[in-house]
This record gives sequence, C-alpha cells and structure tokens, in this order.
Amino acid sequence: MDSAADNKSNNNNYFYCKGNDEIISWFDRSAENAAAIQRQTLRRILELNHRVEYLNKWIGDIRLIQDENALESLYATMVPLASHADFEPYIHKIADGEKAPLLTQEPITTLSLSSGTTEGSQKFVPFTHHSSQTTLQIFKLAAAYRSRIYSIREGGKVLEFIYSSKQYKTKGGLIAGTATTHYYASEEFKIKQQHTKSFTCSPEEVISSGDYKQSTYCHLLLGLYFSEEVEFVTSTFAYSIVQAFRSFEELWKELCHDIREGTLSSRINIIKVRKTVLGIIVPHSELASRIESICEELEREDWFSIIPRLWPNVKYVYSIMTGSMQPYLNKLRHYAGNLPLVSADYGSTESWIGVNVEPSSPPEKVTFAVIPTFSYFEFIPLHRSKPQSCNNNHKDANLLVNDDFIEDDPVPLSQVKIGQEYEIILTTFTGLYRYRLGDVVEVIGFHKKTPKLNFICRRKLILTVNIDKNTEKDLQLVVERGSQILLSKSRAELVDFTSHANVAKRPGHYVIYWEIKGDVEEKVLGECCREMDASFVDHGYVVSRKTNSIGPLELCIVERGTFKKILEHFIGNGAALSQFKTPRCTSNQVLLRILNVCTMKRFYSTAYG
Ligand code: AMP
Repeated sequence: MDSAADNKSNNNNYFYCKGNDEIISWFDRSAENAAAIQRQTLRRILELNHRVEYLNKWIGDIRLIQDENALESLYATMVPLASHADFEPYIHKIADGEKAPLLTQEPITTLSLSSGTTEGSQKFVPFTHHSSQTTLQIFKLAAAYRSRIYSIREGGKVLEFIYSSKQYKTKGGLIAGTATTHYYASEEFKIKQQHTKSFTCSPEEVISSGDYKQSTYCHLLLGLYFSEEVEFVTSTFAYSIVQAFRSFEELWKELCHDIREGTLSSRINIIKVRKTVLGIIVPHSELASRIESICEELEREDWFSIIPRLWPNVKYVYSIMTGSMQPYLNKLRHYAGNLPLVSADYGSTESWIGVNVEPSSPPEKVTFAVIPTFSYFEFIPLHRSKPQSCNNNHKDANLLVNDDFIEDDPVPLSQVKIGQEYEIILTTFTGLYRYRLGDVVEVIGFHKKTPKLNFICRRKLILTVNIDKNTEKDLQLVVERGSQILLSKSRAELVDFTSHANVAKRPGHYVIYWEIKGDVEEKVLGECCREMDASFVDHGYVVSRKTNSIGPLELCIVERGTFKKILEHFIGNGAALSQFKTPRCTSNQVLLRILNVCTMKRFYSTAYG
C-alpha cells in the first residue's frame, strides 16, 4: 500500500492544477502517457479498495505489488464483466446502513441516482468526494480549452439553466439525489466559479428550489437582469436550454414587468426563493423597456437569435448537444443565431469519461478525449451483426434484445483502434468493477495517446418486434427524415418525440409519437409517416415489413404539452431537470397512457404497399 506521503504526491498527478495552461499541460502529460497512467489508475483503485467484499470474491488476496502490466491482465482474467444488477445487492446494503466495506474501503455517505430516463428506471450508484473532484477537474479543463478559442471577461456572469432535485436520506441515513444535485451542493461547485472566474446569475436558493418551473422563471429573470454581464449561456443537457426559451416565449411580458417594478411574479411562491431574488433585483425601467422592444420584434421573427439579441455580450452556448440531445439542435441553433454552439463533455453518473478538446467543432462532429486518471476504462469491440433469418414469431423479441452486436474480448485503452466501435466498461474509484456502461462509442482518433471518442448511442436496442434491430440513433435518423418533410412542406416544427414497439397484436408494429407546434395538413403528416417507415434501413426491419411480419408504422400526433406531462411524471418521481432525457422509446404503462390519451390523430404508413 502507498504511504500517506506517496498518496499525497500521487494525488498531485490526479488533480491539483492552477491556471489554464497548467491544467492543459497536466492533461497533455496524462494523455501522452495514457497507457501507463491507466495501469497506475487501476492499481490505485485496487489498492484503495483492497479486500472489499466484492473484490474479495474475485481476486481474494492477490498481491498488488506485482508489475502493473501483469496486474492489468490478471484483473481482466479474474474479475468478470458486470452490469448494474450485479452491484445492486451491495448498493442496497450500503443504502440500508451496512458499515462493512462492500465496494470501497472509504465509507460511502452519498448515493447518486442516474437519470434513468434512457433505461426507464433510476439506478443508485455510489458518490464520493472523488466524484466531485473529477467534476471540478473536467469543468476546469474544459473551461481552459474553451478559453483558448473564445475568451471571456474575468468576473463575468453565466446564465446557467441548472436544477437540483430533492436530496433525501436512505434507510441507513445516506444522502441520495442526482449527481448534479450533489455537485451543486458541494464546495467544488463554488471553487469552480472562483477558478473559472465566471459566476452563475442565480443563487443557490434558485438552483435548489425543487420546482423546475419556478427555477426557470428566476434563472430567466436574473439572466435578463444581469444581461450585460452574461458571457455565456449553459446547461448540463441542451434540452434544459430549449425548454427554458420555450417558456420565455410565454413569460416575457411578466419578466419585463418584474424588471421594471423590481417585483417578483406570484408564480414564485417558495418563500426562500422569493426572499433571495427580491434581495437581488431593484426596479430597472430602462432595461425593461429595452428588453420589451427587442421581444416585440423577436416575437414577429419567431424568436430567431434571441440569445445574442437579449444577451449582447454572450460569446457562446455551452451544453451537451450530442446523443439524445441531437434532436434539439435545430431549435437551439434557432435561438442561438450566429453564436457558436460548444458541445460539453462526456460522462455519466458513474464516472466522467472524456473532454471536448476542440470546442470549435460543430456538435455533429465533436469528439471526447478520454481522461486516463478518472477511472480505468476497457472497451468491448462491437461488430454489427447480420440477421440470420426472417422469423415471424414476435415472442422472440426479448431474446434479440442483447443480440444487437457481435462482441470481441474487451481491450484496455492502449489497444483501441481508429474506426472501431466499442462499448465502454468502467472500473471506478467509487466501487464499480468492470461495469458495463451501455454506451456505444467509436474511436475517431487520438489526442496524444488517449483515444478521442464519438458518442454513437446507448447500446440497448429500443425498437424491436422480431428480427429487426433499431437503436436510438437509428430512430433519430428516421425522425430527422420525417421532420425534414414537415419543415419543408409546412410551417410546423417537431417539438419532441418518442416511440413504442407495439407487439400486443399481430403483426407487431412501431408507433412513433410526435408533438408538433404549428399547423400542418393531414396529407403532409401522412407523407412524414410514410417517409419514416421507409427510412428504417435495418435489414431485419425491411425484410419484415416486406413480408408483413411487421405491420405499417403508426404516427400518432399528440396534443401540445404532452411531453411536458412526461417530464413532470419523471420529475415527480425524483428525476432532476438537469439530467432529464426524453425516453426515445417506452413500454412504461404510465407514459403510454399519457401518450395515448393525448393522441389527436393517427396515421398508418403506406410504404411497402
Ligand atoms: P446519467 O444517467 O444522467 O448519468 O446520464 C449518463 C448518460 O448520458 C451517458 O451514459 C450517456 O448515454 C449520456 N451522455 C452523457 N454525456 C453525453 C455526451 N456528451 N454526449 C452524448 N451522450 C451523453
């Protein structure tokens, strides 16, 4: 085991760096030595957690003093790949107050809830001081890269659409909440603002109000109040920025009134939020008049370019825009006008993974350079499988769920190849060992010697009736094709979408739910439906459609506000807006009920006759 002194000097390699140049050179050094640092990271994790119950089962008392190469291959041989279900019994015991070291030697006092909106159910994962430290580190690193291209004024403000969920105590007295909630409540969040010399417009009371509508109103109000000082607009996921500006379209008159009078709308009824916000704003009629006249023009122009028009000093918009956020890009571009959209980094509740080292890349091309000190990463090579036969039995659907790719043996970071797709496996400082994250990435290149990843999709198939296999990415592409028709043949826009593989009746078929804004003729919607059906290129789907073992695609148009109801359903169950991702496919009965009750029109595809 390391001595305390060694621990301290080791820690210096892992975290503490001061200025922008220092942190970038720290990362460059880590990236240059990525393979060795990964092996050290594995050793460090195993040393810190030697003899915890989970590891004891697999590696017992193996001696950690051996050479790091040997340790790396021994680890991969002795510890099996695992999924969240394998850790669940341990995490439940920890939540119930078990004190024995089950996953980590360091006692776990906090649990994070992953958003679960992609998978359907929320999952607990351990959260430690290391989690906040890595968050701070990646935020500082990403800010340093951004500052090389877009310089911002020191001491300026940031309009951040961020939201904490409720934190609560588990049976054993541990604090549970989303990872972003723990982070906003941590010392590291304050340190980040000091370090990056950019300060969020909203006080803690607004971020943690627990009511996302009230928080959004106050974020907008304070953002407008400090509009001259705001240097960039941000959120964790792009969805939050889009939803905030959609609300702005409805709220702007009330916001202007509050700025003119120095008052606060009666919508805000949480006492501590009222008190804090009213303590910040004073009447400002000149500013209110300026905003009002800009908004009158913007309203006529469908709010195009609202961000630079109302926030004249903003340099860029910064958020996660990849993966399931891609469908919101059009709307985000509409609001951002000519401002650069900068894609934020890649991570999960379980671990941060990669940083965007090229902030000027458009969101469609962004890659993430893996940070080799954060976790020990392995990669399962994935090859696209071909359907063997056309089977009309939809009872096989479940069997096919994991049969999406053919897998090779996992490889360490040092052995990944450009152009290959992989599923990521994590071994974390927080007690997850060879944990399948379920994300599919492609290696696009290298930053020094650490891979740069393109996020492809969640691994899980979302649409499958029999031999067909479609991922979230496949659905996204299809919906994009349909919405292009919508855009070109009407003035309507797609607000949000989800889907369902309906196997209740034979033949099963896909249902796509669309919420749209604006008027559109039925004929055009019929065309969109047909186009989407014809755009699924998966061989299994095409063959099944041709033989009618999958029925015509159904497009359901839901009434305005349906997806807000879905958001509210998740928030009501403890999700945080900061981490919310609309589920792109659902079998959840509550959601299906909301969607079906709100369906106003149905169309069936005429593709394939
Ligand atoms: P959560 O469960 O809320 O921790 O969400 C983590 C998941 O969000 C990851 O496993 C990814 O699927 C997705 N995600 C996180 N960052 C990005 C990103 N930059 N681009 C695309 N997807 C991301």
